[in-house]
Amino acid sequence: MKELVFASSNPGKIIEVRKIFDGGDFHIISLLDLNDVPEIVEDGLTFEENAKKKATIIYEKYMLPTIADDSGLVVEQLNGAPGVISARYSYEGCTYDENNKKLLKELSMFSPPHKAKFVCCAVYIDEKKYYSALGEVKGIIINEARGKLGFGYDPIFLPDGYDKTLAELNLDEKNKISHRAKAFKKLSKLVFNL
Ligand code: IMP
Repeated sequence: MKELVFASSNPGKIIEVRKIFDGGDFHIISLLDLNDVPEIVEDGLTFEENAKKKATIIYEKYMLPTIADDSGLVVEQLNGAPGVISARYSYEGCTYDENNKKLLKELSMFSPPHKAKFVCCAVYIDEKKYYSALGEVKGIIINEARGKLGFGYDPIFLPDGYDKTLAELNLDEKNKISHRAKAFKKLSKLVFNL
């Protein structure tokens, strides 16, 4: 079994990534399973810069093959905001609910449909290799939160072609279409030829 560190302490992401690698011969260790985890400041201007920074810091600390991702919501009418600051759109340490409310407030001055996409950059690093892969899912932001599954902006994101929000889809359904699943599937192909 191959040990891989996933450089994240976000429980929602960890569940999704474990499920994506399920069935392969992997043991995914998250930052919630490790001690003495270094602080990582996500100050990159792109998803890849941030993902690479997370993976590099964690690889250098634990010296185990490491995967990381950086992801966020890109909203057309807001010129790409919240983008790389999706997690801290309201303020550092805010809740998902506060971010959703802020986003709906910002969008209230625009007419629907509010076109948006989730973007994820997934990266892999070990002593010899560095790979990165991008995934996207397009959809619209709706005005009322629906569903209790998933995390983050899922309750207000309706993927194109679906009448359910990402928070109304179960994990298998979300992993068929999500930005994160697409990025990590591409990455697995590049790194492990899966
Ligand atoms: P980071 O990748 O840890 O910097 O944070 C990504 C942030 O983007 C999360 O905290 C969420 O606010 C948002 N986000 C990323 N992926 C998803 C998703 O699959 N569903 C909902 N929100 C997401």
